[in-house]
Amino acid sequence: MLAFCTSSRFYEHLTGPHHPERPDRLRAIFAAVREAGLIDSPNPLPHGDLYFGLPRWTGQKLIEIAPRLATVEEVMLVHPPKYVDKVRGTCATGGVLDAGDTVVGTQSFDAAMLAVGACLRCVDGVMGGEFRRAFAALRPPGHHAEPEVAMGFCLFSNVAIAARYLQQKHGVGRIAIVDFDVHHGNGTQLIFQADPNVFFVSIHEDPHIMYPGTGYRWEIGASQGKGYTLNLPLPPRSGDRAYLEAMRNSAIPKLMEFRPEFLLISAGFDAHRDDPLADMEVTEEGFGEMTRMLMQVADECCRGRVVSVLEGGYNLRALGRSVVRHLAEMAR
Ligand SMILES: [Zn+2]
Repeated sequence: MLAFCTSSRFYEHLTGPHHPERPDRLRAIFAAVREAGLIDSPNPLPHGDLYFGLPRWTGQKLIEIAPRLATVEEVMLVHPPKYVDKVRGTCATGGVLDAGDTVVGTQSFDAAMLAVGACLRCVDGVMGGEFRRAFAALRPPGHHAEPEVAMGFCLFSNVAIAARYLQQKHGVGRIAIVDFDVHHGNGTQLIFQADPNVFFVSIHEDPHIMYPGTGYRWEIGASQGKGYTLNLPLPPRSGDRAYLEAMRNSAIPKLMEFRPEFLLISAGFDAHRDDPLADMEVTEEGFGEMTRMLMQVADECCRGRVVSVLEGGYNLRALGRSVVRHLAEMAR
């Protein structure tokens, strides 16, 4: 049983007319998931004339769940209070946070709190046995946010907060985070670099040429966490073959060795060949195959428990189609 967690309130995080991280991304996902028949929502939120050409899903429907707002205490599992205040203050008037690419509007703080809450809602549902796995279609994304710095369109570190919450509220011992967004998950890495109980794997485009310029192979964690960070940078124009090789030969064996009790996925789809922000050549089938491998790890190590959280992906058609493939593999 797979849950699908989203909300039209995420559309209210406005980033301006020309920003790639825009509300239409979630409208496209919703439209694609609905067109494919993964959900039977009576409230279509059509995205213009976007048509995804997707085959009809014949498996079990997804359970649609609503996110909740996170509390400030929950956000403080990762971010210090003064950072939370800074984000709240900048959002009160709208503006730009920190490095300059993270634009916020007056509804952005609430959207960011709801994004964190969506992750926690999914985690609670899986841990409580309400459903087996969950996917959260949310924005703003999270994997670039550091404890005290917003960057790369990210306000709060959604997946990292979910991992800390799993440790503290649910007493989960070993957690794996797999990040296949085309950009390195610098925030997540920083937060867990010294934690041997959280194994972080990131597959991304070569940091010599790609934002944010971190995620080299030699970044393997610090002090007690040494060996619990695995970076797999790939050269530009890498496609399904290179991604699947990295996953099969490097990520999966390490994950099996670590034997996580819970798997979190930072699911960015900007390695797609049609994505305007990067140079990779991954197809929907590639994302589906990577997902299938990760579900096998989850089935073997953690009773199938997976929460996957949206990060990037900026070509609307590619994003919608890729998410549908990801969900189809998660739902099996
Ligand atoms: Zn990205």
